[in-house]
Amino acid sequence: MTILHHPGDELLLSYAAGATDEAMSLVLATHLALCPQCRRTVAEAEAAGGAILEGDRPVLLSDGALQSVLSRLDTAPTAKSAAPLGAFTAPEPLRSYLGGDLDSVKWTNLAGGIYFKPLFQRGKSRSYLIRSKAGCGVGWHTHHGEELTLCLAGGYTDETGQYARGDLQSTTPDILHRPVADEGEDCIVLAMSDARLKFSSPIVALIGRWFGF
Ligand SMILES: [Zn+2]
Repeated sequence: MTILHHPGDELLLSYAAGATDEAMSLVLATHLALCPQCRRTVAEAEAAGGAILEGDRPVLLSDGALQSVLSRLDTAPTAKSAAPLGAFTAPEPLRSYLGGDLDSVKWTNLAGGIYFKPLFQRGKSRSYLIRSKAGCGVGWHTHHGEELTLCLAGGYTDETGQYARGDLQSTTPDILHRPVADEGEDCIVLAMSDARLKFSSPIVALIGRWFGF
């Protein structure tokens, strides 16, 4: 398994500093379970943060401090691939949220080969799973806010590239995309968003709103 799409350094630093909310933390932690490269980045960031906090005098952080941490991360060696997990194995901490593996999830059939499983909502931030049959997609949409999508099984493709197990896509309001599941096995993603999705099709928008996208 080669992971090509990772969270940006700033997102990983926020996670390491405990500044991401629960839905975002779940997506990032699940990516980390699959990605030794990002685990190393977070470990470096935590070590750097700890060194700053352990100083006995207050440290005034400047823009240069962030750059310094980032430059240290750039030199971190890349770890070897993690041991492969079965395609429907849910890594921790997702497994605890599900109370089991991906094949035990009770899905709600939306329409057109798309299945949905809400996990939780905290304020405006929501966490959910989407399962797509091969060749199916959730329709053109943009976002009011930020959306993170982590591919757990199968793969999908949109205008920005191809995403397979372990790949994480970060989408912002300026991106209009239509992810479609690749041929082969079903595609399952873990997603979080801090605002509702904005669908181009009114019918899909209605379905999406009905099911809480
Ligand atoms: Zn990664």
